[in-house]
Amino acid sequence: MANIVAIVGRPNVGKSTLYNRLTESRKAIVDDFSGVTRDRHYGEAEWIGKRFTVIDTGGFVHGSDDIFEAAIREQVHIAIEEASVILFMVDVTTGITDLDDDIANVLRRSKKPVYVVANKVDHAKLHHASAEFYAFGLGEIFNISSATGSGTGELLDQVVSHF
Ligand code: GDP
Ligand code: MG
Repeated sequence: MANIVAIVGRPNVGKSTLYNRLTESRKAIVDDFSGVTRDRHYGEAEWIGKRFTVIDTGGFVHGSDDIFEAAIREQVHIAIEEASVILFMVDVTTGITDLDDDIANVLRRSKKPVYVVANKVDHAKLHHASAEFYAFGLGEIFNISSATGSGTGELLDQVVSHF
């Protein structure tokens, strides 16, 4: 199976920021892949010599809250089908929301490896705040800052261990 990493999570947690960081050095290839569909972007990334495809989910059609949440759930199901590794991104500055819990419930039933990624841990003093995400029952929490890149190396070491 191809090496595919999907980033899922509710809007505004920082999925696209991480996607851009991971695929940045390969813009030319990204441009060929982006816009394949309106709701998902595909890009190529590399870490310690291992190449993989990153899927950024999002860009959902805005409508009623119901349609919005259904669209997110649909994206999570597609990601579980398509990806070999799933990054479930949450936001340490807002903590757990109902939509985070909904997504976690879907991901817990997946047989694919899921990593909980606590984003926006921009300062060391926020590290302990992400402990609440253990409540998802999805295992270890990876603290990162997509904005600065902090913590992304440790996360990628884990991700590429599957490839
Ligand atoms: P998405 O909707 O999940 O794709 O989220 P975006 O990548 O569009 O980011 C949503 C907002 O969070 C933007 O204003 C980003 O600049 C901000 N953001 C993303 N990552 C970080 C981070 O690590 N730290 C902080 N402080 N803000 C971030
Ligand atoms: Mg986005």
